[in-house]
Amino acid sequence: MSSLASERSIFDLMDSSRYSEADPKDLECFSKIFKVREHPGTLVVSEELAEKYGGLAGERRQRVLSVTNVVITQQTLFNEERTKKPQTFFDTGVGLDDPTSGGGAACDFCQWETLTAEDEWGRVETANVVTASNLFKAHGLHGCLLFKHHDPLQFTSEQVSQLLSAADEWLQQAHAVRPDAQHPLLLWNCLPRAGASQFHGHAQIMLSSVDFPEFERLRHGALEYASSGSKSHVDPEAAVAQYYRDVARAHRAVGLLREFGTEGDKVQCYANMSPLKDMEVVLIGRHLTSSAFATALHNILRCLIDDRGVRTFNVGISGMALGSGQAREGSQAAQIAAPVVARIVSRGSLKSRASDFGALELFGGSSIGHSDPYRVMASLDDFMGKKG
Ligand SMILES: [Zn+2]
Repeated sequence: MSSLASERSIFDLMDSSRYSEADPKDLECFSKIFKVREHPGTLVVSEELAEKYGGLAGERRQRVLSVTNVVITQQTLFNEERTKKPQTFFDTGVGLDDPTSGGGAACDFCQWETLTAEDEWGRVETANVVTASNLFKAHGLHGCLLFKHHDPLQFTSEQVSQLLSAADEWLQQAHAVRPDAQHPLLLWNCLPRAGASQFHGHAQIMLSSVDFPEFERLRHGALEYASSGSKSHVDPEAAVAQYYRDVARAHRAVGLLREFGTEGDKVQCYANMSPLKDMEVVLIGRHLTSSAFATALHNILRCLIDDRGVRTFNVGISGMALGSGQAREGSQAAQIAAPVVARIVSRGSLKSRASDFGALELFGGSSIGHSDPYRVMASLDDFMGKKG
């Protein structure tokens, strides 16, 4: 693509001349997976209202754009007035309210050896990470992945790598104990606004014997997508793999995809053009213990925290291999195996008392787009540029 992400806007998706140089196959993926519509809005502003909030009185127009991923039925609504606004929630960290005042004796997770439970197979422990059994289980197999340091916003690439390898080892242990449990999910909620109940940096890991509905929806959508125009049987895992290949191509068509890693260990990441929540970045890799996957996840999170001022976020990782997972690295199997996918979203400002989930999200299935995905990608480009 000739245009830099920083010069573009999500509203450019309405102007096909902005991505006319894209690979035709990539463009086909874009037009099959995403429906983009513009919804003009008109409002009449009184003199008093104009005086209070600025701008001119009289009739005003606003552009609203809906971007819908029809495979997973995810939709985001962007208002040009809103997405043009610069990022406003850089904060100094003063808003971080640590009830343990820095951890130590007041923090259960700092004292993990005595104040956290163990799983029936014990703990997985690395130099910087240790697992615990969740004390208040949301699932039968539900563990915690604890950093051995307290601060939830400070972590290195090596620490993220150890978190992921500990998760992988925990999943293999859990699967060995209960082989019927075959649906893994890694959850990383940073700070209470994102759902965390402890300040200390940690993630959670689950292994379920029933699929999580989000992935069942994904599989159904991917099967329908893969079998359109074909009557032959499509393997569900191959359909999911194809969906992720094509959704990445769709983002490449409009300049929102980047690739990292080395030959044999590559990852793709894109700033989601239909983000579930603010600044969603999706990372697609081969397996949880991939060095490129851990490095990219660390870089995305550090970019959001250090450069975009994010203080509270969610990460969800799915698609982890169980049992003889490494056997999937065979070339044929790897082609049809569904990838490991991390989704990362910001949960807004710690200082805001307003929730970022309302009735629109809960009952309408649409999300409000805040940051323009091109601005998110421009930040990631800048961050990676600084790292050289
Ligand atoms: Zn702590």
